[in-house]
Amino acid sequence: MLKIRCLIFGKNWKLGKTVYIIGGGASGFFCAVNAARMDPQLKVVIVEKSNKLLSKVKISGGGRCNVTHACFEIAEMAKRYPRGGNFVKKLFHQFFTNDTIAWFQQRGVSLKTEADGRMFPVTDTSQTIIDCLLEEARRYGVEVRMQCAVTAVERTAADFMLSTARGDILRCDYVCMACGGFPRQEQFQWLTGLGHSIAPPVPSLFTFNSPQHPLTALMGLSVPDAKVSVAATKLQQRGPLLITHWGISGPVVLRLSAWAARNLALLQWRFGALINWLPDLREPELRELFLRWRSEKGAQKIAGKNEWGLPNRLWQFLLLQSGIDDQKRWADLPSKNQNQLIRNLLAFELPVSGKTTYKEEFVTAGGIVLSELEPHTMMSKKVPGLFFAGEITDVDGITGGYNFQNAWSSGFVAARSLVQLAAVNR
Ligand SMILES: Cc1cc2nc3c(=O)[nH]c(=O)nc-3n(C[C@H](O)[C@H](O)[C@H](O)COP(=O)(O)OP(=O)(O)OC[C@H]3O[C@@H](n4cnc5c(N)ncnc54)[C@H](O)[C@@H]3O)c2cc1C
Repeated sequence: MLKIRCLIFGKNWKLGKTVYIIGGGASGFFCAVNAARMDPQLKVVIVEKSNKLLSKVKISGGGRCNVTHACFEIAEMAKRYPRGGNFVKKLFHQFFTNDTIAWFQQRGVSLKTEADGRMFPVTDTSQTIIDCLLEEARRYGVEVRMQCAVTAVERTAADFMLSTARGDILRCDYVCMACGGFPRQEQFQWLTGLGHSIAPPVPSLFTFNSPQHPLTALMGLSVPDAKVSVAATKLQQRGPLLITHWGISGPVVLRLSAWAARNLALLQWRFGALINWLPDLREPELRELFLRWRSEKGAQKIAGKNEWGLPNRLWQFLLLQSGIDDQKRWADLPSKNQNQLIRNLLAFELPVSGKTTYKEEFVTAGGIVLSELEPHTMMSKKVPGLFFAGEITDVDGITGGYNFQNAWSSGFVAARSLVQLAAVNR
């Protein structure tokens, strides 16, 4: 295999150094193809434990791959990372959204921007991204070994020694860990031998379950602007909300699940979600409005059209939950029910008892502790020559293309720095 490739690409590996990249996902491939392109003398090998390459890219964005987000301000972009915001700023100064767009464009892949800022290949299929990365790997002679799980990495005096599940020992000058996030702490065990600490992994980007709750009878209904908070905390987010047959979802819920990932894990995903259906109104304003309507619209039925454009089914549901029947008129609204309605409009409590992974995107929060990495190079501060890229680090973004941007940026930075190191050591 190596011989054939050497013939095809005319490389003489003896001149160069070798880097093993552990993981054939987005960050591993991006690191590999860039390193191989920047340094033709560098032998670049991807080792992938499964029999699939770029498998998350394939299923990402509902099969369309949300490559990045059309945000061109580093400070603004960094705000979309619940963990690692400051760290990614330093990566973005080296490889940012515009670089991602240009990188793919230069290889014949145009991206388009959707109304909410998410960017996809114009072909609307993730296969375009996969084909592009595979073609780059082929062009620059990246070797790929599949079904090759690395089980241990050791730093020796002269090089790195990798053990694989099938009993091979691989030796190389540099290693880039691009093996993604692992849902359980013990899955990081094989990395802690290198002296790195792990921020405990917890899931992020999920929807809230409350399957028995009567609200779920409104499944399919969406509200363009709601505020959702976690009861007894300051954690809250605002945005579109969707009622599903098992609970609530939509951008506001996914965002909250990301920002509150650690708190919610501690609560074992059992908590009260408070929904404010009218986030622009405060309680005194609402009371004043009700007072006015009692006289101005006294004879009208409350269950008629609401003034705020809430979906009618939701309005009627909230009235019912406040003990207000569909015949009740504004003039006859008892203050006890009015108070309940105000509570239900501004802080409707949904008891959450579990989570569901969002079908389009989910990530692991946690991973390699960032203070142990050098953000300008993605090299370990503990083990020279050891690099990291992608979700394995304690960086995660909200949904919308931010996680892939981290994979591209960290993969690129790791590639450039390991190439520079190889040049110095040659
Ligand atoms: C369903 C879904 C949809 C998503 N959609 C989007 C989206 O549209 N936009 C977005 O920005 N993000 C999305 N994400 C998140 C994004 O896919 C990840 O953040 C990104 O793929 C991380 O890339 P990575 O290379 O760091 O890790 P991964 O893509 O997880 O790749 C790691 C690779 O390493 C391999 N590996 C692990 N351990 C070993 C080992 N010991 N030896 C050898 N190989 C190993 C794994 O098999 C895997 O192939 C989505 C995630 C999911 C699950």
